[in-house]
Amino acid sequence: MEEQTERIQENTQEKTEEMKSQQAEEKRKKYREKRAEKEAAEAKQQAEEKLRREKFMRAAIRAAKSGMKKGEVPIGAVVVYENRVVSRGYNRRAEKQLASAHAEMMAIDAACRKFGSWRLPEGCELYVTLEPCPMCMGAALNARVDRLYFGAYEQKGRSLTAALAEANLLNHKTEVTGGVAEAECSALLSGFFSALREKQKAEKAERDARKNSANNPEII
Ligand code: ZN
Repeated sequence: MEEQTERIQENTQEKTEEMKSQQAEEKRKKYREKRAEKEAAEAKQQAEEKLRREKFMRAAIRAAKSGMKKGEVPIGAVVVYENRVVSRGYNRRAEKQLASAHAEMMAIDAACRKFGSWRLPEGCELYVTLEPCPMCMGAALNARVDRLYFGAYEQKGRSLTAALAEANLLNHKTEVTGGVAEAECSALLSGFFSALREKQKAEKAERDARKNSANNPEII
């Protein structure tokens, strides 16, 4: 009788243990599912944000191309507020013969005029196809741009973007992200410069040929 009671007790205990471990497994499963859901939602949000940034960078690329048609080095910029392009600018240094006529300066000035204020409203973003020079990074800080996205990285280390962003010079933090649609932005510049080199080479060859024919008229 006593043995039987003991066995029953053991069985009950085993069952309780089993139930406990099942419940624990259920809990772990639910936790894993929730974590997977959260990760999927974050990945989705990141993918959407990437697309959003690339969309605005393409607007900056289009601005750069407008400049290129006029013979300028193709660098373009746009200011975005509440997910809308509020101003555009492209490099106009050759046209204006002004050292300050950079794409970012054009876009920032136009945005300031639009808002009627040197201080851009909170949440303004600046997109530029090439990592900004110190002047333009300074202008972005002065205009209180909150986020700056650039495409191609300045290759020759002439930029101080990160240092200026960190320096907190104007007690304003501009968050900087590089490499947005980087391939397209880099291709735009390298395409322009290789075409320019080809053109210069062809012009030099033509000049040399003219010089040679002037020196040696018998060749012709
Ligand atoms: Zn600049």
